[in-house]
Amino acid sequence: MEDLKFCPKCGKDTLIWDGNIKWTCSNCDFVLFNNTAAAVAVIIKCKNELFFTVRNQDPGKGKLDLPGGFCDPRESSEETCYRELHEELDIVTDISRFRYLGSRPNLYPYKNIVYNTMDLFFLYEVEEKFEIKLQESEVSAGIWIATSAIDFDKIAFESQKSFLRSYIS
Ligand SMILES: [Zn+2]
Repeated sequence: MEDLKFCPKCGKDTLIWDGNIKWTCSNCDFVLFNNTAAAVAVIIKCKNELFFTVRNQDPGKGKLDLPGGFCDPRESSEETCYRELHEELDIVTDISRFRYLGSRPNLYPYKNIVYNTMDLFFLYEVEEKFEIKLQESEVSAGIWIATSAIDFDKIAFESQKSFLRSYIS
């Protein structure tokens, strides 16, 4: 966060990161907030198995992830679920069937900026397991894992570890 030194308004190297939520310029009145970003994670469930993707990029490259992503501006979280599952997995879902379960805060470091997110967890139950076409750059594989066989150390994000532990128990 300290990489950002130059104020985009007055041009001086007087930007100060407050260690929490915003940069302020000590030379002019410029302020930039790094507000918490909303994101969704979808637990796709078929009987006693859950669907995970394997990440092929950092953060968490090679680790397990739930399908989902950041909410776009002016989008409901259910619309984000629908869009992300379509983009990531090429599946068309019934938007009325995403069931909100709860949330966890998370950190998402990306290119020297750490984003605070609020991960909203949704359940989507399916009658039959599906296979995904491997075309999307964020995903290298999709796997179904029985809830009793989930290795929490292989899950990429702390928010998902924490939430899935409480969801499954
Ligand atoms: Zn300034």
